[in-house]
Amino acid sequence: MFDRDFSCELLIVGAGPAGMAAACAAAKSGINIIILDDNPFPGGQIWRDGPAVSLPEGARHYRRQLDQLPNVSLLCGAKLIAPVGDKRWLYEQETASGIIRYERLILCSGARELLLPFPGWTLAGVSGAGALQAFIKSGLPVKDQRIALAGSGPLLLAAAQAVKKAGGKVVLLAEQAPALRLGRLFLGLWRWPDKLRQSFSLTDPHYRFNSHVLAAEGEGKVERVFVRQGRRRISVACDRLACGFGLLANIEPALVLGCAIDGQAIRVDEWQQTSRAGIYAAGECAGVGGSELALVTGKIAGYAASGNREEAARLWRERRHWRRFARGMERAFRLDDRLKQLSRPDTLVCRCEDVALQQISGAADWRQAKIYSRCGMGACQGKVCGGAARFLLDWPLATPRVPLAPARLSTLVKMGEGADKNP
Ligand SMILES: Cc1cc2nc3c(=O)[nH]c(=O)nc-3n(C[C@H](O)[C@H](O)[C@H](O)COP(=O)(O)OP(=O)(O)OC[C@H]3O[C@@H](n4cnc5c(N)ncnc54)[C@H](O)[C@@H]3O)c2cc1C
Repeated sequence: MFDRDFSCELLIVGAGPAGMAAACAAAKSGINIIILDDNPFPGGQIWRDGPAVSLPEGARHYRRQLDQLPNVSLLCGAKLIAPVGDKRWLYEQETASGIIRYERLILCSGARELLLPFPGWTLAGVSGAGALQAFIKSGLPVKDQRIALAGSGPLLLAAAQAVKKAGGKVVLLAEQAPALRLGRLFLGLWRWPDKLRQSFSLTDPHYRFNSHVLAAEGEGKVERVFVRQGRRRISVACDRLACGFGLLANIEPALVLGCAIDGQAIRVDEWQQTSRAGIYAAGECAGVGGSELALVTGKIAGYAASGNREEAARLWRERRHWRRFARGMERAFRLDDRLKQLSRPDTLVCRCEDVALQQISGAADWRQAKIYSRCGMGACQGKVCGGAARFLLDWPLATPRVPLAPARLSTLVKMGEGADKNP
């Protein structure tokens, strides 16, 4: 294992569209920048690379730019572990760990899928919708497999498209939102012509509104899914089931740093600055809204954090345009309260530690649930069950504890050492 410490003027966490755009904008000022991401390649979720991927021009453009900028260093396969003292983060890679000192910070940590537990969700062959898309990009063969998708939001459609491109058969696309709300969204799409065109290209004959998963069944692996469609209960045979209920902003680093949160996302001002001076946030961690909003907020944060407020302010209009789109999406795909009934008392909520709903349903919050059970204390550190339990049980937002991700002992030792050193 190597010790590798770094210092920079600007640290950017996350190399998705927001982080890449922030780096390119900030780099124009000549400051020294590090962009850190836990994936092996830059691109984030939408531009995730893999053996079965042909990256779109937008992704290639940003990757080329980052490669050519002499003042930007990319630290891939690196996860944030903990802040250690003022303006210092401990990180870990496969063969190294160390401390990054910075003067300013932009959080571009994106979002993850919200997974809701239902009977059978831990069967082999059941995954998140975005997770299935990521598996396919990594080369998972799905040719001729019957694949059911359920949940909510545009990611279901993107995942269905990935399935079809890879030769799989979509047998069900169950969207929980009612037709009326989606119709309203569709009628307003003329303001975003590319989105309107995209909505036509993503249509699928198996798309059903007002439908949600009830249970999955099978011997050792999923074989069929039961779905509520309006008043009907139907079952559909399948080889895989992919479920996602929208996106949850990755706000854990911001919470640990004491940044204020608005609803589910990091609170930012017009410069994308958080409630803490010198800490900015852009992209989906500052509000779920798609890659266009991620790109424009990334640019604003990059310019503002590098002192170019004039250039940042020029982009406010474009940000307003995409924020309006994001609000429309949020309204259309708002989760129905009846989904709170998806889990039965014996359904596992925390699959890392085998904790069922009935073991935590009396707890007032996550902290109390941890005292009664090991909910959220496994490998994912509550990234899956934390969001699900908040939705199901209306728990208040909990500040995560460090380390933010499982780490080697030799890295954890540096948590104490780093905090002792002067910045
Ligand atoms: C699973 C999934 C699939 C998606 N697929 C599509 C799609 O096909 N089409 C579409 O239009 N939209 C898709 N989206 C929506 C997509 O997230 C956004 O449109 C866009 O990618 C947001 O850009 P971003 O830069 O804000 O965040 P992201 O693209 O999410 O990038 C954030 C990056 O930060 C990294 N990161 C987060 N926390 C840490 C940490 N603590 N340490 C180190 N690195 C960290 C993440 O690994 C990621 O690479 C998907 C979302 C998800 C969750």
